[in-house]
Amino acid sequence: MDALLIVDFQNDFTPGGALPVQGGDEIGPSINAIADRFPFVVATRDWHPPDHGSFAGVEVDPERWEGLDPPGIWPPHCVQGTPGAELHDSLDRSQVDVVVDKAQDPNTQGYSSFHGGNLAEVLKDRGVDRVFVAGLATDYCVKNTVLDARREGFDVTVVADAIRGIDVEPGDSERAIEVMREAGADFTTSDELLTERTPG
Ligand SMILES: [Zn+2]
Repeated sequence: MDALLIVDFQNDFTPGGALPVQGGDEIGPSINAIADRFPFVVATRDWHPPDHGSFAGVEVDPERWEGLDPPGIWPPHCVQGTPGAELHDSLDRSQVDVVVDKAQDPNTQGYSSFHGGNLAEVLKDRGVDRVFVAGLATDYCVKNTVLDARREGFDVTVVADAIRGIDVEPGDSERAIEVMREAGADFTTSDELLTERTPG
């Protein structure tokens, strides 16, 4: 069974938010258009405690830090219960079956949607074996979610026009796409999905 996985499409990751991804808001229409072509739709939220170690200015015990990147490199974002942590205003929530919160452990960035939540369980309980991935940001949470989905044994297809990257270094998103391909992810577009798949 197929599922659509919407990664961290939250207010703080879109223009005007605390950690904006350029064009991050532009993925809304593509996601809303394809969501009803999937029998199961999951949205993940970056859901950090206020003292999360990825935030600039938060003190972190280096012995306990397990993040992929050094601590403190991001402005505070997606703090649990704040408007910035809510799913993006443009997302049609009525099409989302389950919301999974992740990245609650203060001692790791929790880039992957499989990190610190019960996403793998949610998908496997529903009999999902293939996930279509959209969301933010290409070079961090989307990439690490795709890599973990492959490790968990899912077939993965990325919806190329429904992701946007941060590109701290120019080319980061392109390199992330290459890494996802090498891990066995396929790529498609929302237009292709609308042509191939029927609603319901
Ligand atoms: Zn985060």
